[in-house]
Amino acid sequence: MDADVAVIGLGAMGSMTAWRLARTGASVLGFERYGLAHDRGASAGESRLFRMAYHEGAGYVPMLRSARALWTELAAASGLPLFHATGCLSIGLPKLPPMRNVRRSVDEHGLDHEILDHDQLAARYPQHLPREGEIGVLDTMGGVLRPELAVLAACGQARRHGARLFDHTPVESVRPEDDRVLITAAGTEYTVGRVVLTAGPWTERLVPSLAGHLTVKPIVLTWFAPTDPAPYAPERFPAFIRDTDGTHLFGVPMLDGMSVKTGFADAWGDLPGPESFTRDFDEARLRPVGEAVRRLLPGLHPDPVRYAVYLDAYTRDRTAVVDRLPGTDRAVVLAGFSGHGFKLAPAFGQIAAELTLERGTGFDVANMTASRLLTRPAGKPG
Ligand SMILES: Cc1cc2nc3c(=O)[nH]c(=O)nc-3n(C[C@H](O)[C@H](O)[C@H](O)COP(=O)(O)OP(=O)(O)OC[C@H]3O[C@@H](n4cnc5c(N)ncnc54)[C@H](O)[C@@H]3O)c2cc1C
Repeated sequence: MDADVAVIGLGAMGSMTAWRLARTGASVLGFERYGLAHDRGASAGESRLFRMAYHEGAGYVPMLRSARALWTELAAASGLPLFHATGCLSIGLPKLPPMRNVRRSVDEHGLDHEILDHDQLAARYPQHLPREGEIGVLDTMGGVLRPELAVLAACGQARRHGARLFDHTPVESVRPEDDRVLITAAGTEYTVGRVVLTAGPWTERLVPSLAGHLTVKPIVLTWFAPTDPAPYAPERFPAFIRDTDGTHLFGVPMLDGMSVKTGFADAWGDLPGPESFTRDFDEARLRPVGEAVRRLLPGLHPDPVRYAVYLDAYTRDRTAVVDRLPGTDRAVVLAGFSGHGFKLAPAFGQIAAELTLERGTGFDVANMTASRLLTRPAGKPG
């Protein structure tokens, strides 16, 4: 045996899995087809929102609490500034389903928060133009993560605990057998006890049974320059997520001294697969983001100073697959994080380690089974 476990794909999920596995004393091999913290997948783009008051459902809060503790542990162990505690502001009409989930998250789980009515919101955060009736919920545990640093930190900690990680090493095949798993990577064969598949948008190449159940989507990030930078500094401008008149906007404060990242998620269509990835983008498609900025964030110049294109894999129900691979007890798959997985990555890494080594996890992942997708006909998530 070359190792107890191999981790395939070292983006957010794979790097965190390698870290959580290696610190148990398991021997770990990790494979990444590009460089570590590269910018062709789902885990780059300078910043990621961390939210505890969760638009997607209050059921995520226990996992988010664990993730936040693990982010703190990783930042301390690596000495890297992975998290900016800016808070995260949710803005919208209270009756909207995401805002109701935010209220449920804070009420049911006793999260530290502040509720701002329309006038308080406008007075405290004049950078935003709230609509009549909109409120703000300030999630004081929220903030901004640094994705590239986080991947490097997790890989660094995995190596510190003995993991052998290979970058620029594509895995060509994974063959689970009764008593081991055979892996071919860059022409070399490895034998391991178990495997964790964390290939993000490339998952279908390694897990053909998921073909048709994951859709690769580009996500375009856009950065806008403020007319006056001072109000957009992290101390004055929390990360935010906003739903206004059908526009879903997210953003983070100015981290580079000259621009604010804000944009749309899940508004850029589908790709046939990750090999169709291109950084060339018809800039006319960015105009709606500029128009939203003009309407909702009037202190920013409405033409982006730059944009960048990334990828993520989506499931039909926007819930990830975190499960053993059906048909073998030697493989765990983590996939389909649907544009909101980064903040939870260390918790998912912990879960993957538990599913691999202990054969079960204390986290509630009952809604993340592979079987829920596989029992339905393959089709686009839409
Ligand atoms: C632009 C953007 C903004 C986002 N914003 C947020 C946010 O604010 N908050 C949040 O929580 N989430 C956010 N998300 C979602 C989150 O970032 C992703 O869900 C998460 O990063 C997915 O990580 P992953 O490890 O599954 O995929 P990836 O990071 O893509 O990792 C997969 C890795 O596997 C490697 N790989 C693939 N095939 C092979 C192979 N055969 N051999 C070796 N290596 C292989 C790839 O090169 C890649 O490095 C955002 C996503 C995007 C794209």
